[in-house]
Amino acid sequence: DRHPEPQFEPDPTKKTLVILGTGWGSVALLKKLDTENYNVVVVSPRNYFLFTPLLPSCTTGTIEHRSIMEPVRTILRHKKAAVKFYEAEASSIDPDRKVIKIVDNSEIQGATSETEIPYDMLVIGVGAENATFGIPGVREHSCFLKEIGDAQQIRKKIMDCVETAAFKGQTSDEIDRLMHMVVVGGGPTGVEFAGELQDFFEEDIKKLVPEISPRFKVTLIEALPNVLPSFSKQLIDYTENTFREEKIDIKTKTMVKRVTDTTVEAEVSRPDGGKERVVIPYGLLVWATGNAVRPIVKDLITKIPAQKDSRRGLAVNEYLVVQGTRDIWAVGDCAVAGYAPTAQVASQEGNFLGRLFNNMAKTENHESRIQELSSKMNLQAGDSAEAAHEIESLEKQLRRIKDIKPFRYSHQGSLAYIGSEKAVADVSWWNGNLATGGSLTYLFWRSAYLSMCFSTRNRVLVILDWLKSKAFGRDVSRE
Ligand code: FAD
Ligand code: NAD
Repeated sequence: DRHPEPQFEPDPTKKTLVILGTGWGSVALLKKLDTENYNVVVVSPRNYFLFTPLLPSCTTGTIEHRSIMEPVRTILRHKKAAVKFYEAEASSIDPDRKVIKIVDNSEIQGATSETEIPYDMLVIGVGAENATFGIPGVREHSCFLKEIGDAQQIRKKIMDCVETAAFKGQTSDEIDRLMHMVVVGGGPTGVEFAGELQDFFEEDIKKLVPEISPRFKVTLIEALPNVLPSFSKQLIDYTENTFREEKIDIKTKTMVKRVTDTTVEAEVSRPDGGKERVVIPYGLLVWATGNAVRPIVKDLITKIPAQKDSRRGLAVNEYLVVQGTRDIWAVGDCAVAGYAPTAQVASQEGNFLGRLFNNMAKTENHESRIQELSSKMNLQAGDSAEAAHEIESLEKQLRRIKDIKPFRYSHQGSLAYIGSEKAVADVSWWNGNLATGGSLTYLFWRSAYLSMCFSTRNRVLVILDWLKSKAFGRDVSRE
């Protein structure tokens, strides 16, 4: 099915729908949307969709990064009507003039790298950025784990630490520091990354650098009393016990306050209520303390009076309309709809908007046809019976279409990989909940994530990567 991308020609009779972002929310919307009904324009600095659930596996080379990326142009090629894509960042939104400003911040720029795009309808799906809480040193010295580039950087740094630790005459303290991998944030991102790292150590590093491998250590730091706060107590205990067996050191009730190029400084709450300052030397530091609001969203919040109390993103109503606006919708991590910032929520929201917009277009088509028929009826009495019949049937359909229920999230469960071929799952099971952990859950985790992959191509690549790293070990070349 390698047909060329259809040509984009804006139709002045149709509304222009601008979609920001190519993440879980926006891509789910694009998948569902009948693009024939609108002039669709997509703007994102990333010209691909990223399957984030398998991103932690890219940090150690269990999965190669391109296996979880899907080019947006490939996705758009399959749409009925052409969609315009601009690889650019939206830098500001003007809700009064109904235009957005876009900037090409990529390495190569042409004579024009900044322009404006008008919209009739706007969907904001720009996600979130990494929270640092203004803690000094975090941005300068740690790696995040959100984008492909982050995973690549981590993969390089792990091996750089190991190779530097193996350098001739390295001091003992320095070997310990370099081989110490510290993860801050015990949410699912931090936990999954720590698990992957320990697997890498057990399955590959141990064999490849046996002389220094006993010094390899993973520490997970969490401010709260336990990791995975959103999972059930049973699974928290299971994860913490598994980590203990795997020799991953979990430091809970430990709040990082400052980061230098070689150390993490944290405040530990002691059982007697006192506080203690600790300094932890590290070779690699991965920062996974959750989400913060992107500047473009912050800026828009200041322009809409009804959003004055919004702190964590754009407050939306039950149809995902940004409160205080009529033609702006928001999905995913940048929207506050009362759900957790997950891929599951973002994709269901995107899917909902796709259906909503398809319905809105149908409604408009039906309404204009009804108008056309009724004016005809007044002019030509002869045809009126037929026209009345059609109007009746159109009105019936309209009532059905217009009866769009508000967005309701349906939780399919939470899954997380915790290393050594074990996973934890909180899933809805018929009418009850099932909390499970272990190797069977791991197989379930693998098949669930495989089935969720964007395309067959992604699915095949991921399976091949799993087989490849099992058969030959992970590729530790530092490129
Ligand atoms: P994103 O998917 O982050 O997409 C945002 C898009 O907007 C990107 O294309 C970005 O380039 C673009 N963008 C950014 N700024 C601009 C701008 N100014 N203008 C235009 N475009 C812009 N959730 C789960 O449910 N299950 C999981 O297993 C899971 N695993 C995860 C693992 C990791 C390592 C991470 C980091 C997250 C994970 N999540 C998981 C959470 C999930 O990835 C997010 O909730 C989800 O990506 C949110 O979707 P989104 O569409 O809001 O944003
Ligand atoms: P998170 O917000 O879930 O967890 C961040 C953790 O960092 C919190 O437990 C917080 O207490 C801790 N923290 C914050 N500041 C700290 C400090 N200074 N020192 C020590 N600890 C500190 O973040 P996340 O794990 O990146 O997840 C973000 C979102 O993505 C969540 O909604 C999550 O459910 C979703 N996600 C889901 C999966 C999955 O389902 N497998 C995987 C990754 C992410």
